[in-house]
Amino acid sequence: MIGGGLAGLSSAVALAEAGFRVRLLEKRPYLGGRATSYALPDGEQVDNCQHVTLGCCTNLDDFYRRVGAAEKIRWYDQLYFLDANGRRGVIEASPLPPPLHLAPSFALFPSLTWRDKRAIARAMIRIVRSGGRPADAEQSPGITMLDWLRRHGQTERAIERFWSVVLVSALDEELARTDAHYGVDVFWKAFLANRGGFRMGIPSVPLGELYDGCRAGVERRGGEVLLRAGVREIHVQGDRIGGIALENGTELTADFYITAVPHDVLPALLPPAIAEREPSFAGLRNLRAAPITGVHLWFDRPVMNEPYLTLLDRTTQWVFNKSRLYGTGVEKDGGQYLQLVISASYDLVPRSRQEIIALCHREMTEVFPAVREAVLRKATVVKETAATFSPEPGCDRWRPAQRSPLKNLFLAGDWTATGWPATMEGAVRSGYLAAEAILAAAGNPQKLLRPDLPVQGLVRFCVRT
Ligand SMILES: Cc1cc2nc3c(=O)[nH]c(=O)nc-3n(C[C@H](O)[C@H](O)[C@H](O)COP(=O)(O)OP(=O)(O)OC[C@H]3O[C@@H](n4cnc5c(N)ncnc54)[C@H](O)[C@@H]3O)c2cc1C
Repeated sequence: MIGGGLAGLSSAVALAEAGFRVRLLEKRPYLGGRATSYALPDGEQVDNCQHVTLGCCTNLDDFYRRVGAAEKIRWYDQLYFLDANGRRGVIEASPLPPPLHLAPSFALFPSLTWRDKRAIARAMIRIVRSGGRPADAEQSPGITMLDWLRRHGQTERAIERFWSVVLVSALDEELARTDAHYGVDVFWKAFLANRGGFRMGIPSVPLGELYDGCRAGVERRGGEVLLRAGVREIHVQGDRIGGIALENGTELTADFYITAVPHDVLPALLPPAIAEREPSFAGLRNLRAAPITGVHLWFDRPVMNEPYLTLLDRTTQWVFNKSRLYGTGVEKDGGQYLQLVISASYDLVPRSRQEIIALCHREMTEVFPAVREAVLRKATVVKETAATFSPEPGCDRWRPAQRSPLKNLFLAGDWTATGWPATMEGAVRSGYLAAEAILAAAGNPQKLLRPDLPVQGLVRFCVRT
């Protein structure tokens, strides 16, 4: 197993449980890949970026259970919004059956007019009736989400203050660059099909602590997890992998190989002739990357009460009150630690860290009055310029299956063909699918992939077949 992010870890643990002796090789000194945490030079533990999961992420939930991390995820049933006029909205489930469960809180949502809401409701009905797959969002090549919304009569305010707010965070891409199929699927799975789909799961510990059980899961079955064990080269003999070379020169062999590295790393590990000749490897260069910027702010006093908040009409999209998510809301020294997230942050990429901190600090002053009096003790910016692959129209044709053209090589990673966007759920799905492919190749087929949440309530009677 090459790569110790969620794709590699989920595959490794599932295969170890199925009786395989797994050797996992991770280049960095810690596990978790993009969804991890590390210590800053002053010793402060920070997440690479705040990560959240949703109720509809059934495979990630299964993985957390397998490795004993499920109780480190706290579930929240409300989404809080604040617009530039200071109006607050809450989205939460009512006792009504899906797809109406969120309708009462949506009806009260103060940042949209009735005209906006009627347009949104019409588009939602269309999604429900099609079972999450409206024909005009499933075209090949796909249309953008923005085009789909305009075709379905959405007002500019509905696009800006509703669709964009949800989808830019969920898919890390602007609506004008997002395949409508991915955009529609988010609303179907998270907000319409099942009442639990939208619940938000947030780790109550730094991300790196979620993977404590993975090493034990692999080692219990005689396997091993090696850190600082970067792979330099994959040797190909005919139509098979003959072995691999580590960066320190060690040569290793195995019966089966899984790569779970980012999509732009894999071709460089393969012999150039194969990376260029095989369409499933050569096509990877067409997957474009999208950025996410995380801004970490430490104040000398509490400035925010909510555990998290979504901001409308601002550069900052989400504010997470890390002190509250990890504890009581106040640090031991009396201060408070906030983490801000900006997805699809193309505009911030060329800007300096000082400029980004100043911009976010100004926005926090406008949002939380207590910031005016507070001292910003420390701040840091983490720019991930290649955070996720962009779910552009047509990107699916560049996402290869887990079974590769080389007989004993299997591919995992959020960018492989999972049907999901680049998320932790997508990564775990890819890991389970790669493990299923190995089990089948070894003559012991097993189902690892967990099903989606069931379609509930009135939705069962609304879907036109
Ligand atoms: C800033 C940011 C915020 C995000 N927020 C969310 C969120 O809120 N919710 C969500 O669901 N998803 C989120 N994501 C996406 C999520 O993090 C990824 O989809 C997921 O973690 C990808 O897992 P992976 O295993 O496919 O890849 P990775 O996590 O990239 O793992 C690949 C691993 O391979 C290792 N590696 C690379 N080269 C080698 C080599 N030569 N030899 C050995 N090892 C190697 C790397 O060190 C790494 O550990 C976010 C991503 C980012 C960057």
